[in-house]
Amino acid sequence: MSYSSWFQAHGQKHREIVDRVGSKMSDRELMEYFRWDNMVAKEIDFCPLYAKNKKCHDVELLNCYLCACPNFRFDDSIFSQEGGKNLYSYCDIESKDGAKYITDDAIHQNCSGCLVPHSEEYIYSNFSRDWFDIMKNVEPKS
Ligand code: SF4
Repeated sequence: MSYSSWFQAHGQKHREIVDRVGSKMSDRELMEYFRWDNMVAKEIDFCPLYAKNKKCHDVELLNCYLCACPNFRFDDSIFSQEGGKNLYSYCDIESKDGAKYITDDAIHQNCSGCLVPHSEEYIYSNFSRDWFDIMKNVEPKS
């Protein structure tokens, strides 16, 4: 599956949950519904890691509302070439906790050490019930 396909499918799953459970919740309650502990119990299909009882980051309070991340930029058709390698993704805020995953011919953003989109302070300050609206700059425009 391309990243673009995953992105669209994930956004649809997010929308379905918000539509199903969100109408009687405040924004904060809805955001808190997406805490990992609750999602594992109630929304097992939202993330493949849930079925393995695993987290993408080893922290006690992990909120999944903004997975993937509004600062992630990707282009399955590549942004550019750097040193003969295809640049597929990067971090728009150059997070100090981000890194690059570099192969023989490709460069990908590695977010495994970054907690920016999982912080509830960050999520709430960027909150919208429309995941695609928050993520509007992630996908390439063309
Ligand atoms: S490094 Fe952090 S802020 Fe940057 S795209 Fe990845 S998760 Fe988002």
